[in-house]
Amino acid sequence: IVCGSLLSIGNELLLGDILDTNAHHIARELRVHGFRLRRVVTVEDEEDEIARYLLDLLDRSDFVIITGGLGPTDDDRTRQAVAGALGRPLTGNREHLERLHRRVERKGIPWSEHTGRLACFPEGAVHMAPELPMAGFFLEHRGVPCYFLPGVPHEMETLLARKVIPDLDRRFPGRPIYVKRVLRVQELVESEINRRLASLEPPSPGIEIGYLPQIGENWVTILVRGTDLDDVTSRLTEIEERVVALLGPQYVSGSEDEPMELTVGRLLSGRRWKLAAAESCTGGLLARRVTAVPGASDYFERGFVTYSNEAKVELLGVFRSLLDEHGAVSAATAEAMARGARESAGVDVAVSITGIAGPTGGSAEKPVGTVFMACSTVRETVVRKHLFWGGRTQIQERAAHAALVLLWR
Ligand code: ATP
Ligand code: MG
Repeated sequence: IVCGSLLSIGNELLLGDILDTNAHHIARELRVHGFRLRRVVTVEDEEDEIARYLLDLLDRSDFVIITGGLGPTDDDRTRQAVAGALGRPLTGNREHLERLHRRVERKGIPWSEHTGRLACFPEGAVHMAPELPMAGFFLEHRGVPCYFLPGVPHEMETLLARKVIPDLDRRFPGRPIYVKRVLRVQELVESEINRRLASLEPPSPGIEIGYLPQIGENWVTILVRGTDLDDVTSRLTEIEERVVALLGPQYVSGSEDEPMELTVGRLLSGRRWKLAAAESCTGGLLARRVTAVPGASDYFERGFVTYSNEAKVELLGVFRSLLDEHGAVSAATAEAMARGARESAGVDVAVSITGIAGPTGGSAEKPVGTVFMACSTVRETVVRKHLFWGGRTQIQERAAHAALVLLWR
């Protein structure tokens, strides 16, 4: 296994100002190309820190990628740190200096000493892409390739795809292949999933099972490593079948690229059913998810956002007496909303959501997160009560998701 390390440089990463999306991107791209990112170390734009952890990573890795701190400003310290750490003094590259002069001239901006810094590289380093207007250099230290990339995400991505991956590819032929599958699991909590899959563990070498809780659903990931694509694919299929059987096929709704709204859409299309949605506390989020699928017009008829009691009465024909007796957040109201939506829209199936998204409005009897939903067809109307946790947005998202699961059922 070829293992790399990433050194992420930037005060902003450690001050909580930005998310390290570079690490995310690099990890995924490496895995897709058969490399493994073993560790990510994040440090400030500080020479000693950069130097210390760069040396440390060089000791433990087949290759090192470094992002950030390559700019011309005083807060970008990577060059100096590398020069110090590796004992490779910074030297100006005349050719690149001239190139920079021409670029600056073309843009009509005045030359500054700072810009000149971009033409300085640690001894033995080469500019990664002189043809592109972005910093980034390469050097090999004691046989370990080091790729220094800018922090700016689109520049980092360009250099990674055009320079780093192809170079790694040349250096490490005959690497393993990784294939990955995500299974979306509905209605089972993480511990239950774990319990059901317990007999799988420990998985055979080259197979990794992961658990990723999401909002409303849980993902089980299967990563298979091997050398031959056909072999890896067939092993993946085999393990996937075992995982699905252990979980219970009725709980697995689809794979990574099959969100619930797509699964439900296929189901409705297959039955040639039309759907309407009546939403209160989710404010249209369910309709938004259903219509996020291209071609939803085949089965989605309309959505009602009936936030007030008046709207529920006027648009869905919910009886005012029912609202007075049970309250807007109740099984009776959810049922009446779904039935009313189905009848008024003239569709085969309607789903309703009414609940308390919070943070205010809860009571001892109906705390924040209490959500009723119903699914109504000509044959029957099924009602469900949920108690979701989290902030307002999470409760809304969980409710919309649960309504999709209810439709699927
Ligand atoms: P520049 O030449 O623009 O100065 P640089 O290599 O010095 O490039 P930084 O100054 O560290 O890069 O960062 C430039 C921009 O890229 C910043 O706006 C920062 O928010 C963003 N950035 C830096 N590192 C990351 C990262 N790991 N993930 C996402 N964004 C990042
Ligand atoms: Mg920086």
